[in-house]
Amino acid sequence: MLDFHEKKHILVVEDDPNVANLIRVVLSKKEMQVSIASNGLEALSFLKSQYSDIIISDIMMPKMDGYALREALLKEEDLRTIPFIFLSAKDQTKDIVKGMEYDVETYIPKPFDPEILVAKVSAILRKYDRINKLLLYDTLTNVFNRRTLEFRLSNELKRVSRYHQSLSIIMADLDHFKKINDKYGHDFGDVVLKSVASLFKEELRDTDFVGRVGGEEFVLVLPNTDKEAGLFVANRMRSRVEAYTFKYSQVTFSGGVATAPEDGVEMKTLLKKADQAMYRAKENGRNQIVSF
Ligand code: GH3
Ligand code: MG
Ligand code: MG
Ligand code: MG
Repeated sequence: MLDFHEKKHILVVEDDPNVANLIRVVLSKKEMQVSIASNGLEALSFLKSQYSDIIISDIMMPKMDGYALREALLKEEDLRTIPFIFLSAKDQTKDIVKGMEYDVETYIPKPFDPEILVAKVSAILRKYDRINKLLLYDTLTNVFNRRTLEFRLSNELKRVSRYHQSLSIIMADLDHFKKINDKYGHDFGDVVLKSVASLFKEELRDTDFVGRVGGEEFVLVLPNTDKEAGLFVANRMRSRVEAYTFKYSQVTFSGGVATAPEDGVEMKTLLKKADQAMYRAKENGRNQIVSF
């Protein structure tokens, strides 16, 4: 799915506890975190609330078999791109051919060689890391691109409604950035964008994230953060950026803060309100934070 973690999360879907444990043991040795579901239904409910980098699934299982699980996952936009492996005692050519028709990464017949399983899982994870790096991140600044930011924000907002939490976003737009480009050149402008993105990342907690949503516009998402705390963080960021000298020049930004649920729980509404607040910060003289 949409993130990189040092420790990869593996979901093993297997009704035979001996096989499940064997997989857990061999993958844990490679610093992977293994969760086990004993059928397709359990796997689906696990994936509703938890993240997984790869799914290794048996085919013959009670309640929901591997084929039905794969079909259900392919229907979900945010689950169908998780790499998926079949690992099954169905070992005939026709079984493997049928399995591959479900768009799985690979099909491993049982009994399997644990070393080969580990090698295949590791190679698939490395490949997905490379693909995800291109798909999810802004190439200039290495923060989330707009699509990823919106995807992650809308997921976080579901949690706000479900668990009655609050969440604040900061819309940050660099001040008079056109002048910086005009005066020092576009390449320097790019360096400033990269450096500002790094400063933002340094100031954020592990559960926060930031994306570049326009040329010199960033959105910072702070889960579990009410308006007062959101304003505090935004102002700390503002001072940090203001104090920093980027080779030739200083730069500032104007920020707008909006908070769910009080300003809305819809992503579009929240982004719009943060944007309106940011425009008021511009009108009031820039280099300041305004709350909606
Ligand atoms: P304001 O304080 O009102 O936001 O003024 P501004 O100059 O920042 O705003 P404006 O929207 O007029 O200009 C944004 C500038 O950002 C225009 C463009 O040259 C610059 N910009 C946008 N994307 C990039 C980029 O990827 N690299 C560089 N170097 N500059 C960019
Ligand atoms: Mg089975
Ligand atoms: Mg702008
Ligand atoms: Mg600007």
